[in-house]
Amino acid sequence: MSVKKSLFGFSDVLKLQMARRKMASAKAKTEEEEELSLRDVRPSVLPVPARFSDPAQFPGVQEYLTMLGAAETLGVPDPFFHVHEGIPANTTRIGGREYINFSNYNYLNLNGHPEVAAVAKEAIDRYGTSASASRMVSGERPLHGELERALADFMGTEDCVAMVSGHATNVTVIGHLFGKRDLILHDSLAHNSLLQGALLSGAKRLTFPHNDWQALDEMLRSLRPSYERVLIAIEGLYSMDGDFPDLPRFTEIRDRYKAFMLVDEAHSLGVMGATGRGIAEHFGLPRNCADFWMGTLSKTFSGCGGFIAGNKLIVNYLRHTAPGFLYSVGMSPPLAAASLKCLELLVREPERCRALRRTGRLFLELCRTEGLDTGNSAGLSIVPIIVGSSIGAVKLSGKLFERGINVQPIFAPAVEERQARLRFFLCSEHTPAQLETTAKATAAALA
Ligand code: PMP
Repeated sequence: MSVKKSLFGFSDVLKLQMARRKMASAKAKTEEEEELSLRDVRPSVLPVPARFSDPAQFPGVQEYLTMLGAAETLGVPDPFFHVHEGIPANTTRIGGREYINFSNYNYLNLNGHPEVAAVAKEAIDRYGTSASASRMVSGERPLHGELERALADFMGTEDCVAMVSGHATNVTVIGHLFGKRDLILHDSLAHNSLLQGALLSGAKRLTFPHNDWQALDEMLRSLRPSYERVLIAIEGLYSMDGDFPDLPRFTEIRDRYKAFMLVDEAHSLGVMGATGRGIAEHFGLPRNCADFWMGTLSKTFSGCGGFIAGNKLIVNYLRHTAPGFLYSVGMSPPLAAASLKCLELLVREPERCRALRRTGRLFLELCRTEGLDTGNSAGLSIVPIIVGSSIGAVKLSGKLFERGINVQPIFAPAVEERQARLRFFLCSEHTPAQLETTAKATAAALA
């Protein structure tokens, strides 16, 4: 009944119950007969075509079923939802077998670090597993403020607000700050969360070609006068290609057109810059080269959540009004404690970032030596190997899995069909031997 309640409105449920009662007083029927009668009753209750009332007929569900059918016909193994039996790092255990692992963002191998695990356990003992309600309404734990102050210090911003999801942070912040008289311009490879935030805002949303600041400049030249506020949304390091924007150029454009700029540093914190402070540090730019610095806590910081660091007034405004913060639970105490400890470790041991970058550079070189197409990868923490067809990418991932290497395929519509690829995420503890084995195995499997 609960499923039916959610599919039909409350009054529909009442009508359905009345119909049921009528039927009960009529001649006794078998259960199967009764179900058939109910189906007969529904159309007269609300004459809506099945394609609008049956979830199995939603266009997206139909597409999904077609995709599943195609994969089954082609005998392609499902590369998703692998169950890891421990902490995925440079290696992982799946189905009782050890794999060289390239499919998570445990960039600095801090997930499971003894100090991180210890503070998370302490936080559970002291505060429990959940914040249980919105921080603003129901109060917070000391860890929430400590984490935000530490993140603001690390980023060199006035303030920072942390939310329970990186994706939701982009959606709620962009959706909340901008409106229908504004313009949002984002990179064509920007993460879905940036796009969803722009859609939610109701602003005019346009993409500029990947990393193409000249195209952005041209667009703004003609469009700027027609809009009130303008947001440029870019990423510190792009997760599909492993490349990064020319930040000084983007900043110069922001300044010239009096626009705002949000930089999503999901993949660049702990990765770029001498001390892992991201793309601004990489370029030696001051923090005010952008307005909103977004980061996730699920990658380098081994927790779960997102944050926005920036100007005190705006961060406080978001803290008091952004729906995704205000109407959502505060971060779970053990996760806040874990991310805070990871941040401390990153500051204490910046050599972890250097190790990661060495790993990335070596893997890029090894792949190139094998003649593999690594696209525009800068050889930091992400190296794609572009295969071409979606099925080709899925099959290659399957072959490598058989050889003890876990790496995920990315295919259309996430990237263009001819750009389907395997995406290798590196971490600071991948060994040269693991990287060499992988580059060679990939070239052999492709051949
Ligand atoms: N931004 C970017 C660029 C991302 O790649 C991701 C997720 N990988 C997110 C935001 C969302 O972060 P989270 O998974 O922590 O919600």
